[in-house]
Amino acid sequence: MDPIATVDVREVTFDETVDVVVVGLGVAGSSAVLGAVEAGADVVGIERAAGGGGTSALSGGLIYLGGGTELQRACGFTDTPGNMVAFLRAALGPGVDENRLTAYCEGSAGHFDWLVRNGVPFKAKFCEEPNRESADDAGLLFSGGEDSYPFDEVATPVPRGHKPQWTDSAGGFLMERLGAAVDTSGARVLTDAGARSLVVDDGEVVGVVVTGDGGDRTVRARGGVVLAMGGFIHNDTMVAEFCPAAHRPNPAWRIGTPNDDGRGIRLGVGAGAAIVRMETFECALPLGPPHRMARGILVNQRGERFINEDTYTGRIGLCALTEQDGQVFMITDDVIHERNPIGLRIGFAAEGPDELARDLGLPAETFARTVGEYNAAAARGEDPRFHKRPPFLQPIGVPPASGIGAVDLRVDRDAIYATFTLGGLATDVDAAACREDGTSVAGLYAVGRTAASLAAHNYASGISLGDGSFFGRRAGHHAARRAKGA
Ligand SMILES: Cc1cc2nc3c(=O)[nH]c(=O)nc-3n(C[C@H](O)[C@H](O)[C@H](O)COP(=O)(O)OP(=O)(O)OC[C@H]3O[C@@H](n4cnc5c(N)ncnc54)[C@H](O)[C@@H]3O)c2cc1C
Repeated sequence: MDPIATVDVREVTFDETVDVVVVGLGVAGSSAVLGAVEAGADVVGIERAAGGGGTSALSGGLIYLGGGTELQRACGFTDTPGNMVAFLRAALGPGVDENRLTAYCEGSAGHFDWLVRNGVPFKAKFCEEPNRESADDAGLLFSGGEDSYPFDEVATPVPRGHKPQWTDSAGGFLMERLGAAVDTSGARVLTDAGARSLVVDDGEVVGVVVTGDGGDRTVRARGGVVLAMGGFIHNDTMVAEFCPAAHRPNPAWRIGTPNDDGRGIRLGVGAGAAIVRMETFECALPLGPPHRMARGILVNQRGERFINEDTYTGRIGLCALTEQDGQVFMITDDVIHERNPIGLRIGFAAEGPDELARDLGLPAETFARTVGEYNAAAARGEDPRFHKRPPFLQPIGVPPASGIGAVDLRVDRDAIYATFTLGGLATDVDAAACREDGTSVAGLYAVGRTAASLAAHNYASGISLGDGSFFGRRAGHHAARRAKGA
């Protein structure tokens, strides 16, 4: 990765001076703008595209919140910050930053109220279908495997996927609402304006050089520059260097916009910030909706199961890709399998396990044993190996099914392992960028996917919009306070 060199303050003439400059107006940057404005700062937001939104506007809109939000209570669920901490520590780890996690979970219910105050409505309706945005405008669902093994043994299962009140994918609606809040906040927004370099004065970040239609513009920031420029899934060189397992030619794999090009991370490193957990990425391999399809089983090249199929799709995808080389099949039958909106089809059909193993190129004896043992335990309502829950236990390939079949989920075929990067600039709990030695780079903040945040190894749907908006707002507050103290 090539860091982007900073420009010395003595080499520039500032065109304007404000308290806080926010670069990138996705969920993290918009929240940083709103946070800085509410803390009394004079703010400029800079966006390379024609308007704000970024990848956030393409997303499902799930925001991971809990600890007893008003929406959770209205839907009849009891949650506490401690319960949320216990789940996220297990689900996002190993290696979750405890300070950051505690701040997030303790502030989560208040953050929900803040989103509502900024014009984002939520409907008090629970959606039974987990793991992705609801097909209707229901506001709350399980989005990280909270109610499946092993997490159901670590914390009391509570849904925390909060979806703004919009039918189906709500990311566009979320960003429309946050964008409207930014527009009326008093902050000034420059669009079609890309951040080119950071300006430093004796190691402190004091401004940014922006390139737009009218040429270069240099903006001084008294309190700080917040980098909120997305991740690096569209930077081939960086993905190959840091996340080789996610480096695939199929563009359908890349979840993001072309502006997720790693520039924010390169700017931060050029100013002295460290990078952390650059190898981490989210990788979703959905088996539904409907979630009932998780009554099938997943097998690897050895013809063995490797995970409980009812768990979170991101956990399945990461495990399938990195531990099973992406060589997996879903074994199912014509009773279990249903027409589904993500287009999973039974590509192989056979009379029994032996014939299916031959078709799939799996070791027949092992595969037949896998299916036989699973079916015997499922008939008793048990899954001693992987703890899939009883509603998803059903013998496969037995009457009334007409045979047994497989959905091809191999990575080199048509299956989509939807991926975006999670590593980025090192930051503290106020989103201030940090050097290798843990000291902060004065005047520099990083949020959203430009920073490494809550997801230390694994992921739960909604964490990205959740930590982006939460720590974005916090960065805005901190930079605004710094401007006043400076
Ligand atoms: C299909 C899909 C579904 C998803 N569903 C969910 C979900 O339900 N929940 C969830 O939490 N996450 C979801 N994600 C992931 C999530 O959308 C992203 O991780 C998150 O939106 C990142 O937010 P951000 O603010 O960091 O980046 P972005 O929203 O991408 O914002 C970054 C902004 O910076 C701008 N920018 C980049 N470079 C420059 C520059 N040089 N100068 C100025 N501006 C620049 C970009 O144009 C962009 O507007 C989904 C993603 C996709 C694609």
